Amino acid sequence: MADNEAFTYNGGKVEPGETQDIRYGISETYLGDPVRIPVTIINGEQPGPTVFLSAAAHGDELNGIEVVREVAYEWDLADLAGTLVCMPVMNVPAFLAQQRYLPIYDRDLNRSFPGSETSTGAKRMAYRIYQNFIAPCDLGIDFHTSTRGRTNMLHVRADMSDPAVARLANAFGSHVIIDSSGSDGMLRTEASNRGTPAITVEMGEAHRFQRELIDEALAGVESVFAEYGLRETSTVNWPGWRTVISDENEKTWLRADAGGIVDMHHERGALVHRGDRICTITNPFKDDNVTVVAPFTGLLVGVLENPVVYPGNPLCHLVELKDNVRRVVEREQSASPESPV
Ligand SMILES: [Zn+2]
Repeated sequence: MADNEAFTYNGGKVEPGETQDIRYGISETYLGDPVRIPVTIINGEQPGPTVFLSAAAHGDELNGIEVVREVAYEWDLADLAGTLVCMPVMNVPAFLAQQRYLPIYDRDLNRSFPGSETSTGAKRMAYRIYQNFIAPCDLGIDFHTSTRGRTNMLHVRADMSDPAVARLANAFGSHVIIDSSGSDGMLRTEASNRGTPAITVEMGEAHRFQRELIDEALAGVESVFAEYGLRETSTVNWPGWRTVISDENEKTWLRADAGGIVDMHHERGALVHRGDRICTITNPFKDDNVTVVAPFTGLLVGVLENPVVYPGNPLCHLVELKDNVRRVVEREQSASPESPV
């Protein structure tokens, strides 16, 4: 078989069979010091696709950092066919501040792709990342968590109308796929529209490492590597059941009709039946409690973590399941002694 090609970026080159840890400058601080993101490039000896794995585009979303680092440093990649571009922390200023957005005018790095050389600070950072480490890739996975104060079960977000993106989304092997084209400036959207099919993986909550979700995501990465032939050892994972939720049905966040303190009765990933109590909104005196019941039978993809709400705040993300899927989930959940997390 022919040798793999070298991976080149502005200022460097990674030869086949070589791994490089890079700190790549994407901006400068108020003191004029470089803002540098960590990038690990693992170039296999055998030819194959170039794949990016990225995390912490939102600085407080930590689970993905561990996923990317474990692939880069703990997996045996001696037989890798292709190239991995691993970016465990893309939004360094927000990561340092442990917040979602760039501390500069609260810009959202994940609405700034593919970036611009001459525009805002956020877009210049996005540009450096995109040009050097995203555009050369054949496909990629961007890891996120729920927004602070909420948690969600691991799921994929992808534009399933794009066959190349759908192949990647299915290969990840999650139970739930949310089918949406995404927003302007979003990494997965802009990359997919420019010839690098990409998906977002959402998992758990901000500010945490959640081991069981990290393991689930690592299995997803392994499955993707099998689908695209990056590693011979792994096989493509079928999750047992799968539901693809379309964009319109995505807006099933149940919202609070009363302000108060929420007592949530289920964990993320639980199946609730129509009429089941999902949560109770209480006041300081624990009277006049408001019970929130499931309007239909479905899966709790996301739930509140921080238990305080104003009227109108989201309580949970309930997703309807087709009958055949629901039966499989019922069987699975009644078989496990503990409630799923
Ligand atoms: Zn995010």
